[in-house]
Amino acid sequence: MRVSIEDVTVRYGAHVALRGVSLAAEPGQVVALVGPNGSGKSTLMRAVAGLARHEGRIGLGAAPRGARHVGFMPQDIGPRVSLTVLEVVLLGRLASLALRVTREDVDAASALLGRLGVADLAPRMIGELSGGQRQLVFLAQVLAGDPAVLLLDEPTSALDLRNQLELLGLVRRLTRKKGLATIVSLHDLNVAARFADSIAVLCAGRLHATGAPGAVFTADMLRAVYGVEADVSADAGGLPVITAQRACVAAETKPAAARAAAG
Ligand code: ADP
Ligand code: MG
Repeated sequence: MRVSIEDVTVRYGAHVALRGVSLAAEPGQVVALVGPNGSGKSTLMRAVAGLARHEGRIGLGAAPRGARHVGFMPQDIGPRVSLTVLEVVLLGRLASLALRVTREDVDAASALLGRLGVADLAPRMIGELSGGQRQLVFLAQVLAGDPAVLLLDEPTSALDLRNQLELLGLVRRLTRKKGLATIVSLHDLNVAARFADSIAVLCAGRLHATGAPGAVFTADMLRAVYGVEADVSADAGGLPVITAQRACVAAETKPAAARAAAG
């Protein structure tokens, strides 16, 4: 299912968190959303998920937007509830759950936990888990809803290196196999370059650049958006390798976010 975001603006009171953002995610493709803290990544995800009031248009394929179509994993997933891991994943199937949970529901939820390498956590209480374990469980919950659109807000922020690679690899395989439109916000630009088909850079609520990793990740972009001096080289496959060297001093370039905040 295609996601089209056209001229979307989101305000929190007087604060404009997104300003005229247009972006599309095609079925079978992963878009990595990057940008400094406060640039509007979570706001954009929440708008697409139907959780933030916006101006402009957000289209999801031809079908009307429904809970079953969009699988959203928010950035802050606290251990708010007193549920076991298996129960949390079963909630992802809520739209199709009958009055009682069937053997099939339990098997599907268990299989997802297995694919994410955390089958052994099933009987544990969600509140007892580490942040990274919780991220894997909540991804299983989102996938249990069999979404056509996948929105993952910093899904790897608490994961170790291996779990990052495994989670992102699984997300990419599912995106291809099921023709999902997937938008993932990430802070690690080198990971984003390797994992995503295209990159969208947000800066102070505006879309600064979008395109293939090699076109978007340039020293100029890193200076303008992040306020960082960086070396950008290419790996054997031609993908950009970014090595941040130092923060720009104020006289060189302030990040655009800071300029915008300063008015
Ligand atoms: P990111 O995910 O890129 O770090 P966010 O989308 O969370 O950025 O935030 C974008 C801007 O909107 C920030 O300036 C943030 O302080 C502000 N913001 C986010 N949520 C709210 C809210 N509920 N009320 C007021 N301002 C908010
Ligand atoms: Mg965020």
